[in-house]
Amino acid sequence: MKKAVLKGIGDIEIVDGPEPILKEGEALIEVAACGICHADVAPYEGKNTDLFPFPVVCGHEFGGIIKEIKAEKSELKVGDKVAVCPILSCGSCYYCRQGFDQLCIGSAGESVQVSNFGTQAREGAFAQRVAVPLSNIIKLPQDFDMELTGIIEPAAVAYSNTKDIKDSNVVVVGAGAIGLLAVKFLKLNNNRVIAVDIAENALGLARKTGADFTVNISDKERASKIRDYLKGEMVDCVLLYFVSDDTLAFATDLIRKKGEIKFIGLSGNNFVKIDSLAMLVKSIRLHGYMAYPTSDFKEAVDVIVKNLDKLNLKELVSAKFPLEKAKEAFDFKQRENVAKVIIVN
Ligand SMILES: [Zn+2]
Ligand SMILES: [Zn+2]
Repeated sequence: MKKAVLKGIGDIEIVDGPEPILKEGEALIEVAACGICHADVAPYEGKNTDLFPFPVVCGHEFGGIIKEIKAEKSELKVGDKVAVCPILSCGSCYYCRQGFDQLCIGSAGESVQVSNFGTQAREGAFAQRVAVPLSNIIKLPQDFDMELTGIIEPAAVAYSNTKDIKDSNVVVVGAGAIGLLAVKFLKLNNNRVIAVDIAENALGLARKTGADFTVNISDKERASKIRDYLKGEMVDCVLLYFVSDDTLAFATDLIRKKGEIKFIGLSGNNFVKIDSLAMLVKSIRLHGYMAYPTSDFKEAVDVIVKNLDKLNLKELVSAKFPLEKAKEAFDFKQRENVAKVIIVN
């Protein structure tokens, strides 16, 4: 079985190795598509290598077809098309019991480590086949376009941090894949959406995706342009898919009193300046989001299946490469400012 092994910085090798061995309660998935995430590109560039010690098989945004099941009883069967929720959790710790299994401390403790497919915890899906616990598998309709399984995971992130926002004025900062997916889910919930980015092509894509208004973050008039557009209405929520001193200052300035700023995206610098006086005077709520609970992933799949035409996720799949060309795919993703690059089998 072939898999793409990240052996070092900028070094991906296609290795032919043994098939995954199934444990009880697992299924063998023939991978149909796996998206390349910023989190995968990071170790390729030499970042976050403590979370991804080399060699590592990355890839957590995937789905495929069940080839084999090792379980006494299961509602799933061989041949089923499935999406995979890549969160690995113990099911019994404080956070799992509260329904926030993405924060599970079963193995990592109260650290900032993440337990997920495609990390030190478990081999990912830049491979032909992968073993997956049955509890991580969500069945898809048999006519589902399997290329879309490479974008369901980031869509679940976008769904989870937008599901509670309805009939509001929302600013989305960062029109990468997850930001654009957020625009789509926000429009489903009848919000007015303003997208902000530094790249004009990203803003063009945001408008195509459904954003009502776009502004370049480098525009000196950015805040007044948004205020003019809103004609006296206020900004209820800012989603920061790119966190920096500048984007947080921008969000703090724009947000209404009692509004919410959501931190979602990673940034180059983990430490940003906060205007504590504005936070206090405006009673701003700051909320950090780590991925999504598995329950939200399942809800997201449901919403996607029911709104396939309206969401049109396919327009965000910018390029696809076969597994053998994984290195070219990573180089392309690194070089081009595109929404989503997927590896297909
Ligand atoms: Zn991801
Ligand atoms: Zn747990």
